[in-house]
Amino acid sequence: MSGEGRDVTAEAARGYLRIERLSKSYAGRRAVDALSLDVPRGEILALLGPSGSGKTTTLRLLAGFEPPDAGRVLVEGEDVTALAPAARRFGMVFQHYALFPHLDVGENVAFGLAVKGAAAARRVADVLAMVDLAGFERRRVSELSGGQQQRVALARSLAPEPRVLLLDEPLSNLDPALRERTRRELRDAIRRVGITTVFVTHEQEEAFDLGDRVAVIDAGRLEQVGTPDELYDRPASAFVATFVGRANDLPGRLLGGPEGSRAIVRPEAMRFAGVENGGLEGVVTARRFVGGHAYFTVRGAGGEDFEVFAPHRAVGVGERVRVAVERVLYWVEGGAG
Ligand code: ADP
Ligand code: MG
Repeated sequence: MSGEGRDVTAEAARGYLRIERLSKSYAGRRAVDALSLDVPRGEILALLGPSGSGKTTTLRLLAGFEPPDAGRVLVEGEDVTALAPAARRFGMVFQHYALFPHLDVGENVAFGLAVKGAAAARRVADVLAMVDLAGFERRRVSELSGGQQQRVALARSLAPEPRVLLLDEPLSNLDPALRERTRRELRDAIRRVGITTVFVTHEQEEAFDLGDRVAVIDAGRLEQVGTPDELYDRPASAFVATFVGRANDLPGRLLGGPEGSRAIVRPEAMRFAGVENGGLEGVVTARRFVGGHAYFTVRGAGGEDFEVFAPHRAVGVGERVRVAVERVLYWVEGGAG
């Protein structure tokens, strides 16, 4: 339990779940590198990063499946770093939700419950209702859709009333058509329960749709944490600027920057301009429709390609154009090209 003489309330206020400088190396290579995050009570925090960036390792450290080399995990001010996984009272949902195929839905959900009998049946009914599967107790797992199975897995992890919910790419097994709907159902269920959640994904759309805030990690290190709008409009690093959303990487000198600098510019921050307006010169080489707009690929005078987002009839493929830049998202000083 919480130690004596510490102000537990003040610690909890900083973050219901606190991650303090967690580090883990494998064979001398840092998989998680001094990662710190505060997750307020009831928040859904999306942990977003490319494959191999340390997302799963972070969740395994939080769950207690492995000890960190350094750092601490605190829940409500209580240091749980040395506790066994079960004692932390965290719920987990993995990519492979691994339901027991020979058990029915009710038996699957009841699996981790300490209570038995009528109390267990009541709890199972309650959590099935939370994930919008009321009355599914006697159904066979094999009869359910992928999305329903995913929600059974969620119900199973919620049944013992965990303090924190950890999800590791829970939608990546589903085909794309099902993924968006299941994502919404998952989000609604988590919101209804109101549980503090860390959701891991390598897909930006998923992170932005589900996360109250998004923490971007690369090579085990936190690049930035913020709301989706903050990350999109005010990236704190070149990595975030290019990893989150679409972005052009232009030679800075084209926009009046110093030699060797780079300018990262969103396609929607560029527009086709009249000849008199100056700007970048180029030839349109391709057009990709998105609703009534399109991404136009432009080959610049220096051979660099960039994308401009504009109304679909703005210009034609093969046309010579000038492109004005309305806003540079991020300047990368010096460095190689
Ligand atoms: P992500 O989930 O973001 O794809 P992981 O956390 O699985 O990334 O892996 C981060 C890095 O740590 C990778 O380079 C991976 O190869 C390495 N790694 C993860 N687990 C182990 C392990 N048990 N043994 C050795 N290396 C590991
Ligand atoms: Mg992973």
